[in-house]
Amino acid sequence: MQNSMMHLPLVIGSLADHVERFHAATEVVSVETTGEVTRTGWGAVIGNARRLASALEMHGVMQGDRCGTIAWNTRRHLEIYFGVSGGGMVCHTLNPRLAAEQLVYIVNDARDRVLFIDRGFVPTIAGLIDQMPTVKMVVMMGARDEALAAQLDGLQFYDELIAQGDAAFQWPQIAETEPSSLCYTSGTTGHPKGVLYTHRSTLLHTLAGNSPDGLALSARDSVMPAVPMFHVNAWGVPYIAAAVGAKLVLPGPKLDGESLARLIAAERVSLALGVPTVWLGLLQGLEATGADVSCLKRAMVGGTALPPSMIAEFRDRYGVDLVHLWGMTETSPLGTVNQLLQKHVALPPEAQAERRLAQGRPPYGVQLRLVDSAGHVLPHDGVTQGELQIRGHWIVDTYYNKDRSALTFDGWFDTGDIATIDPDGYMVIRDRSKDIIKSGGEWISTVELENIAIAHPAVANAAAIAARHPKWDERPVVIVQRHLRMEVSEEEILACYKGKVPNWQIPDRVLFIDNLPLGATGKVVKARLRELYGEVLMPETAEAEPA
Ligand code: AMP
Repeated sequence: MQNSMMHLPLVIGSLADHVERFHAATEVVSVETTGEVTRTGWGAVIGNARRLASALEMHGVMQGDRCGTIAWNTRRHLEIYFGVSGGGMVCHTLNPRLAAEQLVYIVNDARDRVLFIDRGFVPTIAGLIDQMPTVKMVVMMGARDEALAAQLDGLQFYDELIAQGDAAFQWPQIAETEPSSLCYTSGTTGHPKGVLYTHRSTLLHTLAGNSPDGLALSARDSVMPAVPMFHVNAWGVPYIAAAVGAKLVLPGPKLDGESLARLIAAERVSLALGVPTVWLGLLQGLEATGADVSCLKRAMVGGTALPPSMIAEFRDRYGVDLVHLWGMTETSPLGTVNQLLQKHVALPPEAQAERRLAQGRPPYGVQLRLVDSAGHVLPHDGVTQGELQIRGHWIVDTYYNKDRSALTFDGWFDTGDIATIDPDGYMVIRDRSKDIIKSGGEWISTVELENIAIAHPAVANAAAIAARHPKWDERPVVIVQRHLRMEVSEEEILACYKGKVPNWQIPDRVLFIDNLPLGATGKVVKARLRELYGEVLMPETAEAEPA
């Protein structure tokens, strides 16, 4: 049948064309790895992206080839996002904080042909390049630097590379189902697995994820992704900002609270995104700098559960609305965003605040369901807990380089999270299935225990873990990181639980630690805590606990 409507492929090149044509002058601000702040516009960014794509083509890089990045959030990284994907190649962001062994594993699994790296990573890559046989070209993301050139044979320099390219380069025509970018899961259990996003999945995620009940980003926003560009494509923000022509503020390597507070104030950031540890840091940074962040209206928080006490502190002290979202590498990542429904608008503020605690509702384009361990579908009654499964336009089907689909027999992806969903569709993550505490056959949510501890003013961060117990199999132990120079005792923390959870869920112990171990994306590494403290309730080891 004749097409009754146009069919244009949903490709990243079309996003680049749009932002270049209609938002060329809108600023892109970048804190470089040298500490210098550079200012360009979307027009210049896309011009460089075109130069890059044409230069890569001249160097024999082919469509579909993976181009890895080991880099912080900067302007050049943004150009690589658009130049590589627009040019039909695959932008593969790697996490710079990975151990050398994992970096090598991932580069080889992805068969990266090119590596773009920030200056600080040149020595690391020089030491590993012999173990990365597929890499034909390493590009330092900056101007020529003889000292760096001496460290790695054949090292190229980004600024020289793009100078060879053509700013009028036209994107090749590619099918929307072709791959555009690649991200690996954090691999806390086993080897990391690659998720290969397509142009179509990325564009649909961009359009649906930015609906008014999603990120709701507009041309009037100044947006700062404090989530790294290697963490699920900075949650899609570079693409969404391009789609709407928002000002983009890229914070570079320094995500500490003071640096962010100053940047937010200087660039009048209206919307920022990051994991809860970043916002904890920002609270301290705001305190220390006294920066005027009245411009900041909203912050989107996900990656781990957002503690309710943080929502209240940001709202009451700084007038910032913290919006909770949930997602994973396998889900591009936006799975749910927490916004109110019409019936909530007239509710008193406390009732609204209560509503905002959940991880949120799915936008059009993803579906959620709960199942029990036998795979039976469970009710969405807000009470029944089950394994959370998801399907949709931007959800993984098969991991990169794997033959078998990652889905259930009936086409759903099992997230590994335990959740409830209420009749309005609000989903609450109770735990990761591997973290939840199974005490005498009953489940205890570590998220709930952590939220209660974090609400104590002397607590900077807290993690609850399952400790082995001779009678109950597992019992909760909470590990607390205190704010600097603040004191709080085990008894005081335990007292916070009275009346908030049933008595049998109150932790057996509270232990104190100077710094909770954080993974590469800012999440507490509970597996490490279980190694350290998982036995403290066993009679033979109870003496060996920390001071
Ligand atoms: P990653 O793929 O590294 O981003 O990790 C995804 C996992 O992070 C999810 O399966 C959840 O367990 C967890 N996660 C993400 N967002 C949230 C959230 N808002 N609340 C609780 N857990 C979350």
